[in-house]
Amino acid sequence: MPEARLYFDWNAGAPMKAAARARLIERIGHPGNGSSVHAEGRAARGAIEEARRSVARLCAAEAKGVTFCSGGTEAANTVLTPDWTLFGKPYRLDRLLVSAVEHPAVARGGRFPADCVEVIPVDGDGIVDLGSLDRRLAELATTGARALVSVMTANNETGVVEPVAEVARIARAHGALVHSDAVQAAGKLPLDIEALGLDVLTLSSHKIGGGQGAGAVVRGRTGFAFSPLVTGGGQESWARAGTENVAAVAAFGAAAEVAIADLGKTADVAARRDRIAEMIRDIAPDVVMFGEGTLRLPNTLSFAMPGVSAETAVIAFDLAGVALSSGSACSSGKVTASPVLTAMGVDPVLVRCGLRVSIGPETSDAEVVAFGLRARNVFAAMKKQHGTAAA
Ligand code: PLP
Repeated sequence: MPEARLYFDWNAGAPMKAAARARLIERIGHPGNGSSVHAEGRAARGAIEEARRSVARLCAAEAKGVTFCSGGTEAANTVLTPDWTLFGKPYRLDRLLVSAVEHPAVARGGRFPADCVEVIPVDGDGIVDLGSLDRRLAELATTGARALVSVMTANNETGVVEPVAEVARIARAHGALVHSDAVQAAGKLPLDIEALGLDVLTLSSHKIGGGQGAGAVVRGRTGFAFSPLVTGGGQESWARAGTENVAAVAAFGAAAEVAIADLGKTADVAARRDRIAEMIRDIAPDVVMFGEGTLRLPNTLSFAMPGVSAETAVIAFDLAGVALSSGSACSSGKVTASPVLTAMGVDPVLVRCGLRVSIGPETSDAEVVAFGLRARNVFAAMKKQHGTAAA
């Protein structure tokens, strides 16, 4: 009998929570459009509003601040716009400042013209340079330019947690708006939009086990509103046109409830992640771990084996029944050099060796042990092939 596969790529897509799957299946069989006034429509509306309350709870926001959309990328593109309103009056932004380690959904700048997007550097752990941010915002303020700052809550590749509350404090001091891409942090860290001081944050359902096809923009209580990305009908209070994907949204809500409960398992997840790190160190003492000395998501491990190319390793692990990913976002299906590790100043040769293991609250001790055994075989075989340091 073939060995069970080990899914250690939760940051790419978390397995669907049983409650989310049940809600999806339940809703998908119903015909109601959330905008219709009849009983079927009202039932769909009820499911959407229930999900809105759950997603709001995930980040301690008000339900009315939640706008559903298709995913984290659409959510980011929605808020990265120069066109905002403040208490209903037009409020135009001139500049977008993003950290050097943002996901492409943010790094591409959304609806800002390319020459209005500026990158704030990070340190060797991938933490945004607050001094640079402060200085640049001060300069912009003297010219009267208005800025939106976008710094992710936690990084998808390294798990490194950004000092978002500090970012927001600095941004506010200079009159800038502040967004945080909380796609990876949600469900792994407690989130509180007001405590963080954010104007807006963005979420994705499939990263918390809600399945693909839903995401959310969540606004704080600051009176700012973005101009919609998708225009047409008045769904989502005119913030995102188009018939809501009721089943996906309902599943997102169910996953949010489970994710809130699962926050209690954070220490266990971190212990398993650390056990994996220990095993890898034992197999390959020259392994380089990234972001280890700083606050990280409990589930994420980013590392490089000198001399072992990530591309080869991902394939070798896959053949050994383990799903993990290279350090880079490989949205095209190709393994490319990680811009995150590059921005952290990692040697380009080592960047090509970057791997990411990401687990979740349902990852078992037995799976961790099985991973260790398979990793030993994979690295031993690669050592034979390449004459690398893996022991
Ligand atoms: N932001 C971060 C940090 C991510 O990790 C991802 C997905 O990998 C996204 C945004 C995009 O989310 P989605 O896949 O829902 O479009």
